[in-house]
Amino acid sequence: MTIILDGKKLSNNIKEELKDKLEKYEKKPGLAIILVGNKPDSEIYVRMKKKACKYVGISNFDFHYNKDTKEEIIIDKIKELNKDDNINGILVQLPLPQHLNKDKILNSIKIEKDIDGFHEANVGKLTLNKFSVCPCTPTGVIKLLDNYNIELKGKNIVVIGKSNIVGLPLSLLLLHREATVTICHSNTIDLSNITKNADILISACGQPEMINSNYIKDNIIIIDIGINRINCDNKKGYKIVGDVDYNDVFNKVNAISPVPGGVGPMTIAMLLENCVNNFLNF
Ligand code: NDP
Repeated sequence: MTIILDGKKLSNNIKEELKDKLEKYEKKPGLAIILVGNKPDSEIYVRMKKKACKYVGISNFDFHYNKDTKEEIIIDKIKELNKDDNINGILVQLPLPQHLNKDKILNSIKIEKDIDGFHEANVGKLTLNKFSVCPCTPTGVIKLLDNYNIELKGKNIVVIGKSNIVGLPLSLLLLHREATVTICHSNTIDLSNITKNADILISACGQPEMINSNYIKDNIIIIDIGINRINCDNKKGYKIVGDVDYNDVFNKVNAISPVPGGVGPMTIAMLLENCVNNFLNF
């Protein structure tokens, strides 16, 4: 029987634990969220993060700038937040408008408050397996796999996607857990030939339902990170699907994370956990 890797349930348990942990503290952790522009998806993600923070008892400090805001204004705000003892984590919602230098902005966050682990110094520490913070989605994937006691050591794990926020840090985490990792991307030749060797296939390429049963061998584990909006005839006019054709692969796999309800909720839970850890270690 195929096991559904339930990220929603696990993330709810994590939220309950964090909430319990924070109950005894009068002063609460503070998370600053910087949003630039009005991209609908970004606004939805920020709203979800704020709701989750409120639930566990993390105070939010919102900084919403219009899309034309100058880089210096955002960096000055980050410098101010770096010094503010009420702030334990600073999150810059990505993507940023084109005119802003993303790296410069992310690297202006004090590394101890870099809740997303995107600062170059934190990326370096992750590479050397000396990290204290790691991007939320990769951490959430590992937590989900660990929760179902899925062994990583020695496994052939294929990761599709090499972005700095998902595919690459996740591949490093898997390598540090002694997996044999193959990273694929848009220039990979004959992708299905590679994915067919996977014991665990993890997709983060943003291609709706691209992975079907022809890409995999029997009895593997699939983690689907993709969040893709496709047109459909329902009330909303769209639905969210992963990178994997869930129905097509379902009977062929041992376990699979659904979209929605898999990695998405875990990402938010890891953000909360990173923030609470910063607060407790302050
Ligand atoms: P990016 O667009 O930054 O990266 C996509 C990666 O996939 C790139 O490395 C790209 O290759 C590769 N890729 C694209 N098309 C193909 C293809 N046809 N075959 C093989 N590789 C391909 O996206 P992100 O990493 O930010 O996000 C990936 C997906 O995960 C998206 O659907 C996003 O919405 C979702 N996501 C989900 C989260 C969650 O919480 N569940 C959190 C963050 C993202 P190349 O490098 O060569 O361009």
